[in-house]
Amino acid sequence: MNYNKKTVKDIEVKGKKVLLRCDFNVPQEKATGAITDDKRIVAALPTIQYLLSQGAAVIACSHLGKPKGPDPVFSLTPVAKRLSELLGQPVEMAADVVGPDAQAKAAALQPGQIMLLENTRFEPGETKNDPALAKAMAGLAEVYVSDAFGSVHRAHASTAGVADYLPAVSGFLIAKELEIMGGALANPKRPLVAILGGAKVSSKIGVINHLLDIADTIIVGGGMTYTFIKAMGGSVGTSLLEPDWLDYCRDMVAKAKEKGVQLLLPEDTVCAAEFSADAAPELVDTMAIPDNRMGMDIGPKTVARFSDAVKDAGTVIWNGPMGVFEFPAFAEGTRAVAKALADTNAITIVGGGDSAAAVAQLGFADQMTHISTGGGASLEFLEGKALPGVTCLMDA
Ligand code: AMP
Repeated sequence: MNYNKKTVKDIEVKGKKVLLRCDFNVPQEKATGAITDDKRIVAALPTIQYLLSQGAAVIACSHLGKPKGPDPVFSLTPVAKRLSELLGQPVEMAADVVGPDAQAKAAALQPGQIMLLENTRFEPGETKNDPALAKAMAGLAEVYVSDAFGSVHRAHASTAGVADYLPAVSGFLIAKELEIMGGALANPKRPLVAILGGAKVSSKIGVINHLLDIADTIIVGGGMTYTFIKAMGGSVGTSLLEPDWLDYCRDMVAKAKEKGVQLLLPEDTVCAAEFSADAAPELVDTMAIPDNRMGMDIGPKTVARFSDAVKDAGTVIWNGPMGVFEFPAFAEGTRAVAKALADTNAITIVGGGDSAAAVAQLGFADQMTHISTGGGASLEFLEGKALPGVTCLMDA
C-alpha cells in the first residue's frame, strides 16, 4: 500500500465546501447519552480548525455506534454540542445525512462555518458502500477530507466511496498515522522490534505473518504466549490456549528461524489459581506452569530480556498487553514494557485498542512517539493490508 498521500495542506480549500469524515464514535452514558470521553472529538480539532482558518465551509460527518437505521439514541446531536463548546463557535446540526435538511444547511453554509451531518449509519447505503449514497454525500461538497483513521479499514460510503466523486485528501490525524506507522513498516529505522501481546494468537495471525517479513525481533507476551509454549512442548496449566493454532505457532517458530528473525518468548510467568483480581500471584518457569495454574503476566526475568531488546531498537511497534493489566496484581509486565518504551531512544509506536488504553492508564502516553487512534484499523495496517479509506485518497 502506498502510504504517501495528499493532505489538507496539498489542496486549495479557501471558499470551498469540504466534506470532512471524522471519527466521532464516542462512548456515551447509556441512560442520558452524555459523552463520557471526548478524546476523539478533541483529536479532530486540529484538522477542523485548520480548514476553518483557511476559509473552508466544513460539513463534518461520522458514524456513531451500530444503529439499524435512523434512531435518536444514536444521534450525533450531543457531539455537535460538545464540538461547538470546544471550537467556541456554533455547529449546525443537520437532521439527516443527505436529506432535505442536510442539503439546505450545506447549501447555506458560509466559509468559516461548520455543520455536522446526522449519523452516517442512519443511511442503509453507508455500510454497503452504496454509490448512490456516496454520490449524494459528495454532492454536498467540493472536496473530501478523511480524518477518521479508526474507520479506514472499512469500505463504507463515507469512508471510501465518496472519494470516487471528489478530490480526496487526508486530514492531520490520518497523515500522522501514515507518516509514522507507514514509515515504520515501509522503511523502518532498524532494528525493528515488534512486541505482540493480548489475549489470542488467532486475532494476531495477519500481524505476525506480516511482521515476520519485516521485523528483526518479534517479542510475544500476554495470553497468546501459552499456545506458543504448548506448541514448543511446555506445559501451560489452565492458561489461555488455542489448540487449533498449535501447528501455526510451530510453523511460526520455524519460519522465524529460517528468516533470521529473533523470536522472544517469556521465560518466567506470573500465574494464579484463578482468573481474578484477588488471586495470589506466583512466579513460575513459563515452560512448566503447574496443572492448576494459569499464566497472567510476564515475570521479572522476561521483563529484563524484553526491555533489553527495546533499549537497542531503532523502532518499536507494540500491540497488545503483556498480561491481564486490568488487574493491578498482574499489570507489572505491561507497565514495565511501557516504561522500557518510554525510556528508549527508538521510535515507539503503540497500536490502538488495549495497548493504547494500557499505556494511557499507566501514565506513559506522552512518552511514546505515536499512539495509533485506530483499534481494528491499526491491526489491519500492521497486517500490511490495503486499507480502503487510505487507498481512496490521492497519491502525493
Ligand atoms: P487483545 O484485544 O487481543 O489485544 O487482548 C487484550 C486482552 O488480553 C486484555 O483484556 C488482557 O487482559 C488480556 N490478556 C493479556 N494477557 C492475558 C493472559 N495471560 N491471560 C488472559 N488474558 C490476557
